[in-house]
Amino acid sequence: MIVVYILVAFAWLTYSLLNYSNSDYTLKNDVLKAGLNACILQVVQESKNAKLGVDSSTAYYLKQLKLEVDPNTLDRFVQQRFQNNYIVEYIAFSDKTVIQIQINPDQVAALDREYNRQQKIWWFQSILLLILVATGVFGVFYSINSLFKLNRRQNNFLLSVTHEFKTPIAAIRLMLQTILNPKIKEEKKAELIHKSIDNTHRLEDLTENMLTATQIEYGQYQYFKQPFDLSQLMRDIHDSHSIKGDLALEVEDGIEYVGDKVILRIAVSNLLNNAFKYSEGSSVYLKLYKDGSRIFIEVADEGSGVPKSEKKRIFSKFYRVQDEETRTTKGTGLGLFIVKRAIINHNGQIEALDNQPRGTVFRISLPL
Ligand code: ADP
Repeated sequence: MIVVYILVAFAWLTYSLLNYSNSDYTLKNDVLKAGLNACILQVVQESKNAKLGVDSSTAYYLKQLKLEVDPNTLDRFVQQRFQNNYIVEYIAFSDKTVIQIQINPDQVAALDREYNRQQKIWWFQSILLLILVATGVFGVFYSINSLFKLNRRQNNFLLSVTHEFKTPIAAIRLMLQTILNPKIKEEKKAELIHKSIDNTHRLEDLTENMLTATQIEYGQYQYFKQPFDLSQLMRDIHDSHSIKGDLALEVEDGIEYVGDKVILRIAVSNLLNNAFKYSEGSSVYLKLYKDGSRIFIEVADEGSGVPKSEKKRIFSKFYRVQDEETRTTKGTGLGLFIVKRAIINHNGQIEALDNQPRGTVFRISLPL
């Protein structure tokens, strides 16, 4: 609708500008024509007063009036009084010479040239203005749309984060209340205590992710880069995550790397958490290998996979693939945002690839 409005407004603007230059041209033409009569009248008047000299050898006729003029004086008079707008022509017949005063063709050509130039300028200005306004409107739409999307994602984030906090807290309270019951057996108590600890880990991960994301976003995260054994780090991460499910490990030994160990641990842990979360209990692989001057870390699962259209967007802050209402998995949309920022800070790249026969492979590539 707004596009049609803009196009109509510009068509109208261009039309009125062209119309204006057309009427300006006609007006100037009319002034020249009207001036011609004034010029002839003055020539007649001046010749009657014998101010244009006398040429006794020739008889001159202007519109059948016999004039006695000196051609040079007449030319000068017309030229000076009417600023080159008109010229005098002498047409010789057998017994007489007819004087014809007419509009200077150079002046007409100049007027035509100016008219054409003016039209080109109007066209150019209208098109340029149209492009500028269209770019502006597009920019405003784009910003509003981005703000709207971010707002929706933030609302989704608030909904899910409240849910993420409430669930483990409620579970821990219930388990502690159960432990307080004197009839509960020691074995059951130990199991409930372990489950409560698991839930506190979940809360810890969540707060850590939120804190890291905020620090990264505002440039407050202090990267502390030092040499360390990346192969060992992968093994440690594997050990702490293997309780979550079937996690296979394939690590090339002795890969030394200079980077921020803490943020890289968070990044790979986030990928593993996602792999378990979105693969409904199937196997997950963690791989580390070197190829030429690059190191590759791969986290693969055989879960639902990421649709092609979402593969770039999933790294945006708060972005989650489904809508909050239809969502069945828990999450805040911060995990991959942190991973991407951390990897970029290490001059690396991350991409989501399709796993075969199903699932996703998140591949991190880091320069050595
Ligand atoms: P979340 O807290 O929602 O998991 P992330 O930033 O970690 O946030 O991931 C963003 C979105 O990317 C997720 O909501 C999910 O839709 C999709 N995603 C991430 N990892 C996987 C995966 N291994 N398999 C399928 N989808 C994934």
